[in-house]
Amino acid sequence: MTDFTMQKDADGVAVITWDVKSKSMNVMTRDSMAELNGLIDEVLADDSIKGAVITSGKDSFAGGMDLNVLATIREESGDNPAAGLFEFTMNGHKALRKIERAGMDPKTNKGGKPIAAALPGTALGIGLEVPLACHRIFAADNPKAKIGLPEIMVGIFPGAGGTTRLVRKLGAMAASPLLLEGKLNDPKKAMAAGVIDEVVPADELLAKAKEWVLSEPKIVKPWDEKGYKMPGGTPYHPAGFMTFVGASAMVNGKTQGVYPAAKALLSAVYEGALVPFDTALQIEARYFTNILMNPSSSAMIRSLFINKEALEKGANRPAVDDQKVSKVGIIGAGMMGAGIALVSARAGIEVVLIDAKQEAADKGKSYTADYMDKGIARKKATPEQKEAMLGLINATTDYDALKGCDLIVEAVFEDVGVKAEVTKNVQAQTDCVFATNTSTLPITELAKAAKDPSKFIGIHFFSPVDKMMLVEIIKGKETGDVAVAKALDYVRQIKKTPIVVNDERFFYANRCIIPYINEGIRMVKEGVEPALIENAAKLVGMPLGPLQLTDETSIDLGVKIAKATKAAMGDAYDDAQDEVLFWMFDEGRLGRKSNAGFYAYDDKGKRQGLWEGLADKYPVADEQPDLVTVQHRLLFAQVLEAVRALEEGVLEDIREGDVGAILGWGFAPWSGGPFSWLDIIGTPYAAERCDQLTEQFGDRFKTPDLLSEMADKTQTFYGRFGPQAKSAA
Ligand code: NAD
Repeated sequence: MTDFTMQKDADGVAVITWDVKSKSMNVMTRDSMAELNGLIDEVLADDSIKGAVITSGKDSFAGGMDLNVLATIREESGDNPAAGLFEFTMNGHKALRKIERAGMDPKTNKGGKPIAAALPGTALGIGLEVPLACHRIFAADNPKAKIGLPEIMVGIFPGAGGTTRLVRKLGAMAASPLLLEGKLNDPKKAMAAGVIDEVVPADELLAKAKEWVLSEPKIVKPWDEKGYKMPGGTPYHPAGFMTFVGASAMVNGKTQGVYPAAKALLSAVYEGALVPFDTALQIEARYFTNILMNPSSSAMIRSLFINKEALEKGANRPAVDDQKVSKVGIIGAGMMGAGIALVSARAGIEVVLIDAKQEAADKGKSYTADYMDKGIARKKATPEQKEAMLGLINATTDYDALKGCDLIVEAVFEDVGVKAEVTKNVQAQTDCVFATNTSTLPITELAKAAKDPSKFIGIHFFSPVDKMMLVEIIKGKETGDVAVAKALDYVRQIKKTPIVVNDERFFYANRCIIPYINEGIRMVKEGVEPALIENAAKLVGMPLGPLQLTDETSIDLGVKIAKATKAAMGDAYDDAQDEVLFWMFDEGRLGRKSNAGFYAYDDKGKRQGLWEGLADKYPVADEQPDLVTVQHRLLFAQVLEAVRALEEGVLEDIREGDVGAILGWGFAPWSGGPFSWLDIIGTPYAAERCDQLTEQFGDRFKTPDLLSEMADKTQTFYGRFGPQAKSAA
């Protein structure tokens, strides 16, 4: 393996080039780290080498650590995975510290060879931690490049010295958005933030870095000099004290204490700030190991990184030819259609946006114009880009314009008759794959209006389309492989994450989220304090409590769904929540849109607090349940639906169940998703808890047969249904 190569130039500068041949972006593995370490040894040992530049053979520097490696190390470390992970982390520290000390005398700081990093583009995670250990960081003036430490987004934190170095370089206050929020910057902003040292024209990158190496620069890092003071002060300094108290409160406020990585990061920073640099690295390594050993971090890495990427790359795509879309027809230019037009044009796809009236079609197109205007105001887009995007959207009422489309996405009213008529009108013009964005109607039913049901499919977007990352693809009974591949290729083009599910009531996401909302409303009826319901949800990592979520999605929509579900299910329908919902509807409290719902709102629509009038109708009971009971009711309401969806074959792949839950409705991301959560708590405990909840609250918590069986055998979901198990079967 040669991920790193070294060339010794006549001027005495060694150029170390990182270029992982099998990947479009460099990622660090255990072996490549050893390679880099070997080359640094060579640089330091060879007297003819004056210094080095570490750069990349690609137009980016590196995307970070190969996160699969962390899982492998844990597995390979036998009985003591923590020891294996700690040793691995400390070896990384040693290698990077060697770059940083570069052969200097430990006492006098004399000697040593300058080592610069030259970043042609994006540098993320360990792709920035290596440069941070170098003596000067040069970046090409490439506004598209992203520079930062996004580890926190997948449940870990920078563990190759990035945490310790950045805090010592910038101070805890300035480092906190970069570490705690994973904020990424373009090179100029990264320089303004003090993360990198110099931005230079791309074609001068290497020359400038070499010039610096040859200039006999001072290379000792401030923290290796006597009298170093941390910018902004250490925790016991008056200014530092304020920073740490504030940061601690902020982290707890934002994470509600459910994300272990944020807390561990803060502890590593706090404790590390009190001791010498090398000890701080050890502390960072201990917290890093602790986080890697926490099941939350491995579940988050698995769902939010490894499996999300696998699904985006087509893990479940049927093997048919490329189905890339060049012209999409969107019927219905309302809220959803307008958003779908925007994301399609943004991906460079030609769009025909049809509505019944020209004004409505134009209004749908104006959504893209407004979106781009906002981007221009924030300097994220240019007027030329706006014109180019608008040039791709043809807003019309004329179905003739659909000729040449290779995909149709229908987003008209949620009505079988209207949708059937639209399907017929469209198919008078084109035979291409037809997708419906319905949220509740069965795909197989709607497909009856199509000439060829094998080319009919559901592509279910979430609102707001431009922000929500998940797209749920639904196969009707007769949907064929080409339609599935078409939908997947389209979702890939618009850079969203797909899941593919089968056609049952509410598909997957809505099927799981509706019981969550219903359980919350049910508790109001029982007299559970609404603040307890809402806070219990947030304290277990749900982004919105069920009552707030009802306000956001609107109470009239809830009533509509309740009535339709009752009509479809008959006696099997459990209507316990409907009384509260219908009463709110009758009171005209429709949620955010009417400035009145479970919450009170001011005139400007700002949410104030829970509506006090609710207690007049549904008094709060004297005795309140404990927090965990409320949390378990809210979580089990969702995860049992996910298990049933798997049992019934709606879900064919638990990875989709987990990734879809987090991206679709924000299911406690720290858990890695419903199946990961069940694996964390263990199927035997989950089944036992179901029995207790069933006894106390009713049959909706009854243990699904699949879960009972797995509990008896102490199986895990990933053990039984994960990709490895699948490929072994
Ligand atoms: P909307 O009412 O905002 O828009 C519907 C648009 O379709 C309107 O502009 C209407 O004029 C147009 N239309 C109706 N009949 C038409 C016809 N015969 N020919 C051409 N245009 C016609 O509704 P929406 O919220 O955008 O929802 C559209 C679809 O997307 C529905 O099926 C809905 O269930 C689904 N959906 C909605 C959401 C959501 O959050 N709103 C989420 C996912 C899916």
